[in-house]
Amino acid sequence: MTALRTAGEIIAAGLAPEARRDELDAVAARYAVAIPDAMLRLIDPTDPNDPIAKQFIPDGRELVTTPDERADPIGDLSHSPVEGIVHRYPDRVLLKAVHVCPVYCRFCFRREMVGPQGLGTLSAEALDAAIGYIAAHTEIWEVLLTGGDPLILSPRRLGEMMARLADIPHVKVVRFHTRVPVVEPERIDAALIAALKASGKTTYLAVHANHPRELTAEARAACARMVEAGVALISQTVLLKGVNDDPDVLAELMQAFVELRIRPYYLHHPDLAPGTSHFRVSIAEGQALVAGLRGRISGLAQPTYILDIPGGYGKAVIEAASITATGDGCYSVRDFRGNEHRYPPETATE
Ligand code: SF4
Repeated sequence: MTALRTAGEIIAAGLAPEARRDELDAVAARYAVAIPDAMLRLIDPTDPNDPIAKQFIPDGRELVTTPDERADPIGDLSHSPVEGIVHRYPDRVLLKAVHVCPVYCRFCFRREMVGPQGLGTLSAEALDAAIGYIAAHTEIWEVLLTGGDPLILSPRRLGEMMARLADIPHVKVVRFHTRVPVVEPERIDAALIAALKASGKTTYLAVHANHPRELTAEARAACARMVEAGVALISQTVLLKGVNDDPDVLAELMQAFVELRIRPYYLHHPDLAPGTSHFRVSIAEGQALVAGLRGRISGLAQPTYILDIPGGYGKAVIEAASITATGDGCYSVRDFRGNEHRYPPETATE
């Protein structure tokens, strides 16, 4: 795989004018840049609002950190008992073996940790300690391999890690979070798929995609290969201003996931990562978009709209409530057209 990584390469590819060189250089000096071929091919350089370009081409606004933004927006570090582990919820941990990605998203919530100047790859000793922590904590039912992007590791290294998790009886589920099926689908070959599975464990893989155009024929084929090999797929999407804050785009994306046997899972409200305010919609706008999906598309295609509470307090569902107590022991329930109904209904009269 090749990828554009510098201002010069981005300008030479026709994705930005020479006049933006200093701006691109300044952002690239601060945050990692990589635009792999598969994403490069999707960008329309004549469209100033191209939703793929917005996700990956550096923007001078990234150098503006607002007072509410923070380097560790979801509080990974405050819940890290040993290097590479985040233990925020009782029954599951994140295992972050690598802090490198095949693509660098301009809105990344871990942008201070990933990339060439990020936290790097766990040493053999640190990985031993992380696996030891999982083995010692019998309440851990699920391990989430994230990062960075765990699928950037070779099948051999992934397979070794999965074999070690397979030896821990209380771990029942291993979940990968990755951009690779979309941004480098050719990597999803038989060897890598075999490495995703561990004897006696169930493997889930969360495919990260934010716009239906990302689901190219190659990405769709990569997902099909995993499903047919017994890997359960779920989706993860970040709600992003100018990329997918549009009911048609969100509906098309969620329906495409279902068609690909990817269960729509989370729609994230964007985190307070530094230099990302230009991507954030308001929570009210997000709630209106999600409410608009109800009734419009199948229940199978509905994502859960969530916010990671800043500071490491975990995720909260933030959809607008469709039911309110009326104070007389009854409720008012809103249907998908926005009409209110009393529950239970008034007793029918003759
Ligand atoms: S793939 Fe994930 S971790 Fe990597 S840059 Fe994008 S959002 Fe961040």
